[in-house]
This record gives sequence, structure tokens and C-alpha cells, in this order.
Amino acid sequence: MSPVGSMSLAAEGLAADEQLVRAALEAAVTTPPTDVPVGALVIAPDGSELSRACNTREATGDPTAHAEVLALRAAAARHGDGWQLSGCTLVVTVEPCTMCAGAAVLARVERIVFGAWEPRTGAVGSLWDVVRDRRLTHRPRVRGGVLEAECAELLQGFFRGHRAGAGANLRELAKTTVTTRRPGASVESVRSSAGDGPEPLEVRDERDRQGEEQG
Ligand SMILES: [Zn+2]
Repeated sequence: MSPVGSMSLAAEGLAADEQLVRAALEAAVTTPPTDVPVGALVIAPDGSELSRACNTREATGDPTAHAEVLALRAAAARHGDGWQLSGCTLVVTVEPCTMCAGAAVLARVERIVFGAWEPRTGAVGSLWDVVRDRRLTHRPRVRGGVLEAECAELLQGFFRGHRAGAGANLRELAKTTVTTRRPGASVESVRSSAGDGPEPLEVRDERDRQGEEQG
């Protein structure tokens, strides 16, 4: 095949993947308000949609209720080949974590397509590459960074909202209940830490709690 032919095929493939990630974004916006918005789909070998899911870890109190795991489970229940999802594509709005990347390998999905890169927890090329380790006998193909800006914006919007909320709560606490929360801490010291100084623990904990979940 000529280089031009290869390029146009690649462009067609990208357009199709963008459409899939757009559908995953639709799933992501249905995420419960307390959960980090992440959406995932599983696409059958014939191109039909087997499942879609959003992250419900906080809403269900389930540490494994990431969008990808829920979508893989639902897809396997429908696909009719036991637990195997051979030939299927996992589509997700953000780079999967170690658990979800591992689940995709174990489900034997053919491809993983994702939106935003996640440098802090991503296990499909960022922090680790769980799915293309040469020691594995099954290694899904990967396309990352599809509609990256849209997918990243959804997450950033969520964290901006939560940080604003955490800051407002902290200012309220500084006025009222700080001495009961932190024996020995003066109201003034907490107020100043809510400004330019190091982030107060409450804010940092809230961000880490929310920020550790990215897929
Ligand atoms: Zn995950």
C-alpha cells in the first residue's frame, strides 16, 4: 500500500475512534455528581456497542466500580463468549489505571482507545504500560489521546468545582469550628494557610482523594 493510502486509512481510523470517544464522553457526563466523571464503552467485533458505563466508585462505595470494569463486566454478560472479549474494543475517556488496564488484558480485548492521558496514575503508557508488557501473551493495541482536550476539560471542570467547594468549606471552618478540628491551631494560622501558603490538609486530602481516581 502506498504511504498516501496508509495515511488516509489511519485518518479514517482516527475519525472512527473519535466517534467512539465522543460516545464515551456521553457516558461520562452521566457520572453521579460525587464521582470523577469517566465514561467507558465496549464495542463488539462487528462495531456494535455492547455496553457503556460511568464511574460510580463513590456513589456505590465500591473501590472497583471504575467505568472500564463496569463496562467490561456488562459486555462479557452480553457477548456470549464467557468472560472473553476477544476482538472487542474498550473505549474510555481517560487513560486506564492499573486495575482497569489489567482487567482489559485479562478480558483479552483487542484494542484500547482512550481520551486524556493521565500522567499521575495512567497504566497504558504514562506511569506504567501494563497492556504492552512483552512478557504478556496477550497485548491489546492502543490509541491514546483521542479528543484529548475535550476529555481533559471534563475532568478539570470537575476538579475545579471540587477545589472551589473545598476552599469555601475551609473558610467556613476557619470562622467557626477550627479549634474543635485541630486542637492547638489558631484561627489566624488556618486563615493564612487558606491564602498563599502551603495548602491546608483538608484541601490537599480532598484533591488527592478525588485525584487518585482517573480511570
Ligand atoms: Zn480504573
